[in-house]
Amino acid sequence: MEQKQHDLGSTKLRRDRQNESQAEKGQSILWLRWLIAAVFFILVALLLMALIKCGDQPAATDELPIYLSCPDDNHPHLIDLGLPSGTLWACCNVGSRTPEGFGGYYAWGETAEKSDYQWSTYAYYNSNSNTPMDEAVNIGYDIAGTEYDAATVNWGDQWRMPSSDQSHELIYNCSISWTTRNGVRGQVVKGANGGSIFLPAAGWRHHAVIDSVGVKGGYWLSTCHELHPIYSTRMVLRDTTIVYGLLRYFGQSVRPVSVISAKTVVD
Ligand SMILES: [Zn+2]
Repeated sequence: MEQKQHDLGSTKLRRDRQNESQAEKGQSILWLRWLIAAVFFILVALLLMALIKCGDQPAATDELPIYLSCPDDNHPHLIDLGLPSGTLWACCNVGSRTPEGFGGYYAWGETAEKSDYQWSTYAYYNSNSNTPMDEAVNIGYDIAGTEYDAATVNWGDQWRMPSSDQSHELIYNCSISWTTRNGVRGQVVKGANGGSIFLPAAGWRHHAVIDSVGVKGGYWLSTCHELHPIYSTRMVLRDTTIVYGLLRYFGQSVRPVSVISAKTVVD
């Protein structure tokens, strides 16, 4: 009887050990599954981050074909307006992936948006200034392609803010007219070759306010005012489109041009 009880006891002990062993095995498998799932999610997250990062920056201009107008929704496109210099303009603003989108508002020389645009929030404000003409730090006469260029920094090395010369060339060689496209007021700029771009009248930002939306547009150029460097040049969309100066701390649109030109492209 005692022997039988002992046998039953040891059988129970074996079963308990077997159960414990199976439970440990089950737990190990569970941990392994969690580990695999975690690694999988991390890899997916990294992949998504890489895709989003790629998506923020358009392709290099030498990889893009040249068009007279947008052929599809894969903006930005390089648009040939038949300009004498061969300068190619982008079809949309920095910060937008559609021609009608306003995109970002940038102070001159800054490459990111902010909530308040004035001297005290301007990255290149000279707080030791003695005169109003001394309120801006000198970051160069022409910032095209530098660390201060919102087009280059946000879109890549092959994009630039246009210079005042390039902007003058656009104005003098194209017909410009007001229109409304997809509910957005702006100007169509049409070259003699039939190429055209749309510039939305995004207004501009002063302090926390956006002024003149749908009525005017302000596009920063890469060159500052030669005599008064607290001003930089901008292309202003109004009744007549002109190149003018504005205090550098205002937030305005940026429409990039390409470093490659229609004249340098070999078919
Ligand atoms: Zn386009």
